[in-house]
Amino acid sequence: MPDCIFCKIVKGKIPANKVYEDDKVLAFLDIKPVNPGHVLVVSKDHDLDLISTPDELLCSIITVAKRIGKKILELGLGEAITFTFNNGRVAGQVVDHVHLHIMPRISGDGYELWHGREYLSGEAEKITNLLKLE
Ligand code: AMP
Ligand code: ZN
Repeated sequence: MPDCIFCKIVKGKIPANKVYEDDKVLAFLDIKPVNPGHVLVVSKDHDLDLISTPDELLCSIITVAKRIGKKILELGLGEAITFTFNNGRVAGQVVDHVHLHIMPRISGDGYELWHGREYLSGEAEKITNLLKLE
């Protein structure tokens, strides 16, 4: 994908602060971190988002993210970690190349979690039935 910024990073056409690389994935610092140590793990192949990424590749992304997350905690860069895949514009995905955010979290850092709404009567049962996997 010639216009994809993460493909350009994978190919070394634009710089990044790389923390891990193997034949399938690359991990580098996010340029606008929630907190220092915010890392993105991306596939080396261009896949749009989590849903369109092959399972095996997702496993590689998550395995690497787990190792980096462990190191973030050991180094004290965060008290906790938010791991996030934004999937689609409304979910906040801006770069259309699958990436997992590893965000070190510090008390009072201002990162917003959802506030949560209540289910209407009967709604949870209906949604549960719709979502059940075969
Ligand atoms: P998302 O909103 O989930 O698509 O996240 C995209 C992330 O990519 C944002 O957090 C950006 O700060 C980050 N980003 C965009 N361009 C670069 C870049 N050249 N190097 C590192 N991170 C980047
Ligand atoms: Zn790409």
